[in-house]
Amino acid sequence: MNITVIKAPASRRAQSNLENAAFGEVFSDHMFQMEYRNGGWEAAKLLPFGPLPLLPSVSALHYGQIVFEGLKAFRQHDGAAALFRPEKFYERFARSCRRLAIPPMGREQFIGAVKAVVREDAGWVPQKRGHSLYLRPFVFASESFLGVRASREYTFMVIASPVGSYYKEGVKPVRLTTSANYIRAAKGGLGDVKTPANYAASLLAAEEAREQGFAQVIWLDAIEHRYLEEAGAMNIFCVIGDELITPPLEGTILPGVTRDSVLALAKAWGIKTAERRIGIDELFDARDKGALREVFGSGTAAVISPVGEIRHGDTTLTVNGGAIGPMAQRLYDAITGIQYGKAADTFGWMEKAG
Ligand SMILES: *Cc1c(COP(=O)(O)O)cnc(C)c1O
Repeated sequence: MNITVIKAPASRRAQSNLENAAFGEVFSDHMFQMEYRNGGWEAAKLLPFGPLPLLPSVSALHYGQIVFEGLKAFRQHDGAAALFRPEKFYERFARSCRRLAIPPMGREQFIGAVKAVVREDAGWVPQKRGHSLYLRPFVFASESFLGVRASREYTFMVIASPVGSYYKEGVKPVRLTTSANYIRAAKGGLGDVKTPANYAASLLAAEEAREQGFAQVIWLDAIEHRYLEEAGAMNIFCVIGDELITPPLEGTILPGVTRDSVLALAKAWGIKTAERRIGIDELFDARDKGALREVFGSGTAAVISPVGEIRHGDTTLTVNGGAIGPMAQRLYDAITGIQYGKAADTFGWMEKAG
């Protein structure tokens, strides 16, 4: 891919407070931009990070034709920066684009764009273990029109944000609540693709949960309001007896790359795994029988996020005495070990950005 490079006049890195920045508040010096016009992707550019000149009539602002991704680059001990499973993120991006009637660019263009940002802003990939450069590729409908149809023009961008450890004061299990009033996704909708609409649909519920002292909502299925789907914007796992269980990908759940990695590792370790529906009642039953060992979420930002408590209606359940369990800890250590190049990359998940 031919990329026109316009360098930032000076780096902002030295002035940026990287250690204490909240997730996604500080951005690196450069951004990637490419346009879809006349039926093709063109004009790939690396530019100084900054505001976009945008007409208020661009279709994305009105009808939400937008897709995004979130992946990370990690500093390796030889000093190089490496991406975790970029191919898998591309495949999901392309799938999401097709669902939103957006023409996806090719694999080489997507991964090439991500790598171009990481190479140009290599100094922004943090040195510290637990820290990384979060990459946010996204595409939006940029044609100026208010008619309701798929746009004929799109803008694809990649921005980068150095992020600290999700767990600044050590891993603290979160409290979650089900929501009696809202649903996240229904089959045939957008629940299994990465598009802002899913987030927009979840924000009020998350805010109400927070007002009641919970970190997030544990989403149940839209029809029976019974089966676990996601923990906030993370996939969900339970350990019941000696089995690691996660809900199946049947159209309402985002196919997480971390979810896939957790299943691959657990299978390789000889742990019994299952992708099947889990009723909220099954969790309470398992708790009563003493079989509920762990519940945790998985996602790129936190990797593994243990759940310490779940409220459903007027009942509450505590998981593993409110502490992180051995399975969650083992998975967290294994995935981050591979990401920072401390453990053997037996699955071939890491890809050098240089
Ligand atoms: C991105 C996302 C996840 C996690 O996916 P990863 O690929 O593991 O980062 C889970 N649920 C939702 C709704 C998401 O948007």
